[in-house]
Amino acid sequence: FEKKPPDILGDLNEEQRQAVQHEGSPLLIIAGPGAGKTRTLTHRIAYLIKQRNVSAENILAVTFTNKAAQEMKDRLKSLLDDSQPLPLAATFHALCFQILKEQGNTEYSIIDEDERKAFVSEAIRQVKERGISVELKPDALSEMISSAKQHILEPQDDLSLVALPEHEINSAFLQTVYQTYQALLEQEIRYDYDDLILNVVKLLESDEKIREAYQNRFRYIFADEYQDLNQGQYRIIKALSPSDTELCVIGDPDQSIYGFRGSDVRYFQRFVNDYQDTKVIRLTRNYRSAETILEASHQIIKAHSINPSGTRVYSNIKGIQTLSVLEAATEKAEAVAVGKTIENMIGGMGFHSIDFGKTEETGIRTDRGFSDFAVLYRTNAQSQVISDIFKDAGIPHQIANREHAYNRKGIAELISFLKVTEDAGILRDFQKIVSLPGSGIGKKTFDIFKAWFYQNTFTLDQALANVKRFPLPEMDTNRQRKFCTFVDRISEFKKNMAEKSVEEKLMFLFENTGISSMIKENVKTGEAFDDLVRTAKAFGVRTSDFFEMIVLQTNDTDTYDFNAEKVTLMTMHAAKGLEFPVVFITGCEKDYLPFKRSEDEEIDIDEERRLFYVAMTRAKDRLFLTHVKKRTVYGKTVQREISPFVADIEQRLITLEKIQAKKRKKERQVQLDLFN
Ligand code: ATP
Ligand code: MG
Repeated sequence: FEKKPPDILGDLNEEQRQAVQHEGSPLLIIAGPGAGKTRTLTHRIAYLIKQRNVSAENILAVTFTNKAAQEMKDRLKSLLDDSQPLPLAATFHALCFQILKEQGNTEYSIIDEDERKAFVSEAIRQVKERGISVELKPDALSEMISSAKQHILEPQDDLSLVALPEHEINSAFLQTVYQTYQALLEQEIRYDYDDLILNVVKLLESDEKIREAYQNRFRYIFADEYQDLNQGQYRIIKALSPSDTELCVIGDPDQSIYGFRGSDVRYFQRFVNDYQDTKVIRLTRNYRSAETILEASHQIIKAHSINPSGTRVYSNIKGIQTLSVLEAATEKAEAVAVGKTIENMIGGMGFHSIDFGKTEETGIRTDRGFSDFAVLYRTNAQSQVISDIFKDAGIPHQIANREHAYNRKGIAELISFLKVTEDAGILRDFQKIVSLPGSGIGKKTFDIFKAWFYQNTFTLDQALANVKRFPLPEMDTNRQRKFCTFVDRISEFKKNMAEKSVEEKLMFLFENTGISSMIKENVKTGEAFDDLVRTAKAFGVRTSDFFEMIVLQTNDTDTYDFNAEKVTLMTMHAAKGLEFPVVFITGCEKDYLPFKRSEDEEIDIDEERRLFYVAMTRAKDRLFLTHVKKRTVYGKTVQREISPFVADIEQRLITLEKIQAKKRKKERQVQLDLFN
């Protein structure tokens, strides 16, 4: 049997083919959800390599998540011959880190969001110590610093653009905090995520030679999800793309959902101004969703206060009973209803009067597996109750959440411990491991060490190396002795671990530090540990690459295993670009959609609407919108109303489902009768 060669053009429609074959000028592909934008992009890269003999080295594809980059590489592999090298497909963060390393900044490592917040808190503490009063919460200041960096503003710049004078945060004050924060990062030789972008923008815009070198290397540049670019990312693409670069950007203005992080859909419009000879191609045919789902989602966007972008897509996939709205009494009943529905659609057995999920007329498969289902929500906090109910019901599921993978109690300490033994730790890692039971070091001792650490502007390795040679003046001998014993223990670990692989190192620390009991305490932590060890395997002895991988997995989907036969639980944001046969959007309630944390918070209703649109258009065959009458939010039980967005969908497209939760006395489980 000879394998049929993949047909790069044959699997595309006319518009898509045109986009793949376009030559000689920048290309902008605008299209609604499911129109095959990402697919077209991938095929265009394959076409460049296979038909136009472009070298993979000259191609760069920037994606929004690592998962998307990986998927693109996998798809390319299937389109190309085995011997053909693959182009660089990476997120902006990964690309920038690579560029910075290539330019000689090899000392720096990256901190994650959690660590960033700790750095901001320390900066605030130090500013306060100097007698300056700080009223604003660390989170708010942290956001402002991030926002400044996203606008490519450094501490010495005028920061009035991001300062909030109404909260008495003027530019000068913000400069002080920002400067202190930056000094702390410098001391520990760290970049935060925003630094990666900021430094590369500065580098490319100021150094003509370096810029030209990259321009010559990346002759063909692709950017998916272009509507979610922020200023820094836009400037990087711009700097890398002189007019003769074959730049191809792809997106959908109606799906822009990251305004809160500084993205601006206007860069989409600006593209045509920047590159006057841009060819614009629109894709109009949707290959993903049943027409009812598309029609309903279009009604959501149509009600938009700003003009919809006119990227209406149409589908030939007919569906009956594709869109259901379900009301439940409480969030628990909601979770049970979702779980029951999934069970019924999988089994198809023992269901009441209606054949739920049976859509034979459409030719859509009815023998579904767990991985065909996604449960989406507006906030991560909503996942807990769903996960608990699913666990009781024995429904295999996965929560896509970076925090779940790396920040769980036990896992975080384990990673910190490994970093410290690898001379790759920061003070905060050390703090985490001295707080482990049995370290012999109390808070007082640590605080003395910390003060000394900041006074001397050491890195952690320097500090640990020096602490034994230069006794800390403030520390009494007893404390000093215990501290040195602990430091000796770390050195001992180092020696024992020197020859080991990453996986073996993790196991060694797991067994020798008491972290194992923390991890074993919780089933989910145990699973996260198994996943971590499995991931580590692929890295052999390359521990620093392992750390880099962890920190560059910035998206919730990055730590998620899409091959598992499990129901997906994720936020609406994380679902961008993905598709599932059956989608539940839970918590379709006012105050979730649009999301409102507090009374006086300003909300971007249009962006919330677009987010709802993105979530709806993930569904292929069936879409369920669920809402509850009462929900516990921030510890208080409150009455909930249905989201005003749902009212924008015409009644004729919706099947209303009523659920009644009945408690059976014998079994303690909540039993549900649907459609009574
Ligand atoms: P989103 O806006 O959500 O990112 P998209 O425009 O990137 O969507 P894709 O994910 O590329 O859309 O495609 C949606 C689905 O349609 C995928 O399953 C893809 O394989 C399929 N598809 C796209 N084009 C075609 C085609 N010409 N023939 C068959 N299937 C197609
Ligand atoms: Mg896409």
